[in-house]
Amino acid sequence: MKYEAVIGLEVHAELATQSKMFCPCPVVDSTQAAPNTAVCPVCAGMPGVLPVVNRQAVEYGLRVALALQCQVAHTSLFARKNYFYPDLPKGYQISQYESPLAEHGRLLIETTAGERSIRIRRVHLEEDTGKLTHLSRDGESFSLVDLNRAGVPLLEIVSEPDMHTVEEARAYASALRAVLRALGVNSGDMEKGVIRFEANVSVRPLGSQVLGTRVEIKNLNSFRALERSVAYQIAQQSAVLERGEAVQQETLGWDDAAGVTFSQRSKEEAHDYRYFPEPDLPPLVVEQSWIDQIAAGLPELPYARRQRFIRQYGLTPAEASLLVDDQDVAGYFEEVAAALDQGSHRQAANWITGELFAWMNQTGASIRQVRVPPAGLADLLARLKRGEINLTTAKAVFSEMLESDQSAAQIIAARGLTQISAAEAVSALVQQALEANPVELQNYLNGKETLENWFFGQVMRAAAGQANPQVVRAELRRSLQAAKDAHRG
Ligand code: ADP
Ligand code: MG
Ligand code: ZN
Repeated sequence: MKYEAVIGLEVHAELATQSKMFCPCPVVDSTQAAPNTAVCPVCAGMPGVLPVVNRQAVEYGLRVALALQCQVAHTSLFARKNYFYPDLPKGYQISQYESPLAEHGRLLIETTAGERSIRIRRVHLEEDTGKLTHLSRDGESFSLVDLNRAGVPLLEIVSEPDMHTVEEARAYASALRAVLRALGVNSGDMEKGVIRFEANVSVRPLGSQVLGTRVEIKNLNSFRALERSVAYQIAQQSAVLERGEAVQQETLGWDDAAGVTFSQRSKEEAHDYRYFPEPDLPPLVVEQSWIDQIAAGLPELPYARRQRFIRQYGLTPAEASLLVDDQDVAGYFEEVAAALDQGSHRQAANWITGELFAWMNQTGASIRQVRVPPAGLADLLARLKRGEINLTTAKAVFSEMLESDQSAAQIIAARGLTQISAAEAVSALVQQALEANPVELQNYLNGKETLENWFFGQVMRAAAGQANPQVVRAELRRSLQAAKDAHRG
């Protein structure tokens, strides 16, 4: 029996506003700020306080909704989701339930099997919880709570169960992250937990149109955890069906170290959140004029930019995808390309995704920290193209540019790296190589033609790698031919 996986994702994205969702507390970097320093009576859940909606958070939510081609609700409602947990000081979370901010959108994704459109079920506003840190000391375990994150605006984006492979789930998650970053509503810093995934996974016999029983994997905070946990569940559930048993509906956690999911609660233990309309907030009314204004101000989105890169710069889909993931990288590329002619655009893309990305990976630097200005890289590539330096030298010069504030011209001049391509200079090097190795030359003339490559190596070495290989090849061939003619004659 063959099985098909069905995957629906719920994505929680913090909104990069100045202040929290319902109070004036600043939104602080959870990895930097001292615990419990950005807290007030509202987000600490003191009795008698009243929430006020953050207009910027609504605007950010609308940006995302419009970018995902959703229908925006002119009136949406906040609701209380009741449950008790130490990271939730009020004892409930303000969320949206029956009337979300927006519904019925879609996100185009690119996979090795081609383009796919994933439907978005809903986009709604809510508030984040605090953060618990579980510790143990002297055999005693305890938990610390930090409320800096409590009340930070959170956008929940829920897909339809339209994905069927781990690759699609990953592509959807990363395409969504790229959209959030392009819109300037989320930094995309996964290590800081600003985007978290929940994966709903079921499996059914291939060809079946009925949805199978699903499990929900909570709190996945990296693409890798998403991929591994979904793959794990697909394998588990296929094996269950294969044995003729039924999948149990459950909520699962993911143990990253062990590489397994574990049960958090079964269907019977499912929470009853006792949702009801938030009595302290009026309906959220969004005027059409505001929607129009936000729609008009949307930037070019990663997918559209990718299509334009393919058209305008002649890039392959894969090359374009690598560049548009980060708008700043895409912008950097466009500046480099603008300084070069059409024929060098792909080369510029390959240098950025090759040499530059390798350096960024190695050093952990972002594109904003790269000291080489786009015009500097363009200048280096132009010198390479003119034959002033060869490829090996260009790479070495670029490495040095990345570590210093020097231009290609300065490094090439200071280190005397200019490629020897003047015909006379190369010709002299070739003559020297032939004269210095009479035995090899004789063997060559006696028919050992492979020695041509050996001579090529000798010349390149004499030029300390700075000779233009094409010019050396041509010059060597000409000289050897002349020697052959003389030998015969
Ligand atoms: P809940 O709010 O209880 O998690 P929803 O019905 O809102 O439930 O669904 C949440 C997510 O689960 C959505 O992304 C949806 O696409 C997905 N989903 C629903 N049914 C299935 C299923 N049988 N298999 C896989 N995913 C599913
Ligand atoms: Mg859910
Ligand atoms: Zn507060």
